Amino acid sequence: MNEEIITKRNTLLAKKVIKGLESRNMKGYWAESKEEALKLALEMIPEGSTVTMGGAMSAHEIGLVQALKEGNYNFIDRDEMEDKRAAMLAAYDADVFLSSTNAMTEDGILVNIDGNSNRVSAIAQGPKKVVMIVGMNKVCSDVDGALKRARNVAAPMNAQRFDIVTPCTQTGACMNCKSMDTICCQFLITRFSRHEGRINVILVNDNLGF
Ligand code: SF4
Repeated sequence: MNEEIITKRNTLLAKKVIKGLESRNMKGYWAESKEEALKLALEMIPEGSTVTMGGAMSAHEIGLVQALKEGNYNFIDRDEMEDKRAAMLAAYDADVFLSSTNAMTEDGILVNIDGNSNRVSAIAQGPKKVVMIVGMNKVCSDVDGALKRARNVAAPMNAQRFDIVTPCTQTGACMNCKSMDTICCQFLITRFSRHEGRINVILVNDNLGF
């Protein structure tokens, strides 16, 4: 019963988000399950494509990274490349860049924070297509709420994931640090895309990533 209620609420909210994305020249899709999200993502990525990614936990969680590694794709895995700069530069010329978003608004604005900034720069420009896998836990009412989520939920949890020395890994909350390890160097707010079909957001009826 609870699942039914959650799905009903998420389905209704996703309609609003997709309309908002369309008004910003971005495409939104709805997946009722992780399996459906995986199918949709693979339909968007032609075989033979060069694919890179920016540390998207959500893409792992729906099985997309594994499917791309096992399939007929040129998947560039930066974790397996010694030359990290070469891996970052390869992303700018990729056919597809996989990501999630740290947060987004009900009317389709994407909010992302980055430390090295390769992820936010590839979302902003470079790769021909961006495919985002986004759990409904990332949807916030407005830009203020999305920034707060990115700063106070996503960033401290990602800092834990990377096992770095920042105040938030000790307190669980953002302390607005200027630590050398801070992952909050650049804030990207994507409110419109000039490039038809470039940014594609798959909203998933689940909680994914941080
Ligand atoms: S404490 Fe520093 S690294 Fe952690 S969320 Fe705040 S600004 Fe980012």
